[in-house]
Amino acid sequence: MVDKFRFDNQKKSTTPASTMQRAASEDKAVTKEVDDALREAIESGATDIHFEPMQDKLVIRMRKDGELSVLREIPEGIRGNVTNRLKVLATMDFTKTHIPQGGFFKMVSDEKSVEMYAHLLPTLYGESIAINIQYKQSATMRLNQLGMAKTLLERYRKILNHDTGLFLVTGPPGSGRRTTVYASILEVLNPGLLAMGYDPVVKYEIAGMVQGKLEEKTEFTFAEAVSEMFKQGPDIAYVGDIVNDAEAHSTIHGSLAKRRVFGRMTANDSISAVQNFLDMGMQPFLVTAALVGVVNQRLLPKLCTSCREAYPVDDLLQKEIGYRLPQGTSFYRAKGCPACGNNGYKGVVGLYELFIPTEEVRKMIVAKESPRVLRKAAQEGMSTLKQDGVRKAMAGYCTIEEVLNVL
Ligand SMILES: [Zn+2]
Repeated sequence: MVDKFRFDNQKKSTTPASTMQRAASEDKAVTKEVDDALREAIESGATDIHFEPMQDKLVIRMRKDGELSVLREIPEGIRGNVTNRLKVLATMDFTKTHIPQGGFFKMVSDEKSVEMYAHLLPTLYGESIAINIQYKQSATMRLNQLGMAKTLLERYRKILNHDTGLFLVTGPPGSGRRTTVYASILEVLNPGLLAMGYDPVVKYEIAGMVQGKLEEKTEFTFAEAVSEMFKQGPDIAYVGDIVNDAEAHSTIHGSLAKRRVFGRMTANDSISAVQNFLDMGMQPFLVTAALVGVVNQRLLPKLCTSCREAYPVDDLLQKEIGYRLPQGTSFYRAKGCPACGNNGYKGVVGLYELFIPTEEVRKMIVAKESPRVLRKAAQEGMSTLKQDGVRKAMAGYCTIEEVLNVL
């Protein structure tokens, strides 16, 4: 069943009421067109909507699973009304057309609440507006639903039993790190524990966890929020994305007390995460004392199982992969059919590796060995992201090209 979304705007617009009323009545059809497009995007689970002014029209597109698709095309003559409608919704200053602006509005249904962050930029043929959609919903994804390989999942669950230390999830932005962190927290959360989290954006709410985010009016930094949060003595703490020295400092020190700390970091691999901490001024012995494990991940488009096509591996590909594959191995390519809306992909698939620093690797980190040497030692006995990707490509979840591309 489809949720019926309506607007939930509590903030007052900065635009004079008379101007707003005039605008609102200017073109009811355009208003309906815009509102329908917004609803359509939310109901289909899009992450962004773009209103792109072109020479002869305004194109409305949505991004879903990383791919853009057209929602509407608005004729040139009335595209101004569309931007006006959005400016009213996002409580932007209606009278100004030559400056970038940011705005916000909410849409709610009986079950969900969706936050819409709008950004406006003056361009050649009018104002370009991008809306980032943040779905607030309960975190329900469990670790065993993420698509982790069985042995990796078992090893990860085992280290999650440690009740002290830092559990990190790394990867580029958009690689699904937050989902993994939340699933990990759900794994260890129980009513006897105090769980608290701070994040720049709260995408999911976890039942039983106290969550905070930085608002416009907040007069403290993210690092301060994290460090203050630790003063309340959480047994489980989530510290969001660790990006600067102050945040690294709060996180590492908070992880040394008897509690589990979960965080995300933008890094290509686990060793780079260790290196980032050192670059952010942390002492190597503190990093090794705090860090329990790092999940490094990527998110790829998932091949449609109704139309994917198998093909045999050739020598060139075999060489690029760098290790011997079993005789008769096939990979798969996208084709397109009615089941996937003709684009060949449906949903996403995650690639994972898990780095648990051994005694030897910890000693090497303290001895400030080079990242290259560390990486080599860390990969001993570890199933790498590449191996996970090749395995998933062989099973037909994703194309081998995309696996090799994201490593
Ligand atoms: Zn298909």
